[in-house]
Amino acid sequence: MTAIRHHIPDDLLMGYAAGALPQAFDLVVATHVSLSDDARARLAGFEEVGGAVLSELEECEIGEDSLEQTLAKIAGMAPTPKMKPSNGVFPKPLREIVGGDEDAVKWKSLGMGAKQAVLCSEDGVTARLLYIPAGQAMPQHGHNGMEMTLVLKGAFRDEDGVYARGDIEVANQEVDHQPVAEPGEDCICLIATDAKLRFQGLLPRIAQPFIGI
Ligand code: ZN
Repeated sequence: MTAIRHHIPDDLLMGYAAGALPQAFDLVVATHVSLSDDARARLAGFEEVGGAVLSELEECEIGEDSLEQTLAKIAGMAPTPKMKPSNGVFPKPLREIVGGDEDAVKWKSLGMGAKQAVLCSEDGVTARLLYIPAGQAMPQHGHNGMEMTLVLKGAFRDEDGVYARGDIEVANQEVDHQPVAEPGEDCICLIATDAKLRFQGLLPRIAQPFIGI
């Protein structure tokens, strides 16, 4: 397992545990969790707390068949599946959405060798795969909302450091950055956004409506 240096913040893990995240962010967190022992351990903690809160709530409303209902609920609970490390580039949650590994992605060219594939998009919340050739820079940009980037292959560097497989970067309105793929290996990232990006350069601004970022 890779040593992960950039971890997911607690509030996002809690949102995931509570099932409160939109599908696109849910996918990124699930994929990150399957790569990170640290995230998995913290998530288990939040799920335990969530379960305790739930059982306290249930104690308050004692109906005639509440014991039976609770027992039925417990019987229906599936044990947390042990996640096996997969051999491919894509962890299981992502492979299920893509329908395979890296070679099953239906890429669309963004020019200069960069490619993207939109995986899901609902109410302006979008998950996409981004492919950046080794050594190539993405356009400098700011954010109108939240952008969650998980590295699956290769690595990229921005103003905040180097991000490699399993690392997650959460950017918001205050972050302005220019991700550059590290030399040596092409970089593949899974990215979720809930708002359009803000580009400084004219060319990416012109291309924005066509590529939907
Ligand atoms: Zn960004």
